[in-house]
Amino acid sequence: MFSYRHAFHAGNHADVLKHTTLIAVLRHMTQKDTALNVFDTHAGAGLYRLDGDYAQTSGEAANGYLLLVDALAKAAGNAKPKAETHPALQDYLDLVASFNTGASHKVYPGSPFIIHRLLQGRDRDRLKLFELHPTDAKTLSANIAQLDAGRLITVLREDGFEGLKKFLPPPSRRALVLCDPSYELKSDYGRVADMMTDAVKRFATGTYMVWYPIIPRPEAHDLPRKLKTLANREGRPWLHATLTVKSSKLGTDDAGEVVRPGLPASGVFVINPPHTLKATLTGALSQAADLLAQAKNKGFEVETGG
Ligand code: SAM
Repeated sequence: MFSYRHAFHAGNHADVLKHTTLIAVLRHMTQKDTALNVFDTHAGAGLYRLDGDYAQTSGEAANGYLLLVDALAKAAGNAKPKAETHPALQDYLDLVASFNTGASHKVYPGSPFIIHRLLQGRDRDRLKLFELHPTDAKTLSANIAQLDAGRLITVLREDGFEGLKKFLPPPSRRALVLCDPSYELKSDYGRVADMMTDAVKRFATGTYMVWYPIIPRPEAHDLPRKLKTLANREGRPWLHATLTVKSSKLGTDDAGEVVRPGLPASGVFVINPPHTLKATLTGALSQAADLLAQAKNKGFEVETGG
């Protein structure tokens, strides 16, 4: 357990999907002044270096955030009239860029810093961050301390699946829960479904966003089905969006050795989504899928129900 470190994956195509969705959801939820409670059940370290050892070793941002930046810069240079970036994708790119100086792309904000940025100036909001990894929890606390955010942010070195329970329902009756585990353990899939079942029972009108990997493993395919069943049973609206950038088939390298493709696709499942989210993600993911596609395997889907 605990071999997963998000620093290897920061800014990859899964982060593009997750963080574009997170920003769109929060932009909508912060239109109202009423106090908002945000829970990030699996927060990570908060900030990542794209030029650091972890990110350089995996190179995943090069096929995600950095590829988007490059492709859009090239498209803008070639197109007459200038190519338009979808506003939600532009919002994501601008927010990440604001953590960097000039045209450098060295720092990538994780969900805690993205959420904090969108809650700025809203003194009555509260952000609870759960992180269980001893090193990442320490780094997260140190990163958050620099924000001088006072009572707005609490870092909890606790199990996010369990820890969420004691905060639901929140006093203001407005909340967003982001559940973004590493799925390092097969049991994480079942724990997400259990946590969501319990949370929706405690607080049916909250907005819940779950990220999951699309990989050839039965639990990964079952999870969105279980979440759909849960939302339908509880009579709650839902949205399911996926982004695919490459094939899940094993390949071979020049020496004939089998090469694993890495993560080919991922999804987000949102219960009680903003009514604007379907149109927003359809536009943004259509463009992201085109720009991030590796070979012919690309695509996106946005489905809603309830
Ligand atoms: N949400 C982050 C973001 O978007 O920047 C990335 C989170 S990463 C995918 C998952 C994190 O969950 C890891 O840092 C891992 O250490 C942590 N973790 C694993 N099991 C946990 C648990 N039961 N409770 C809280 N955190 C956990």
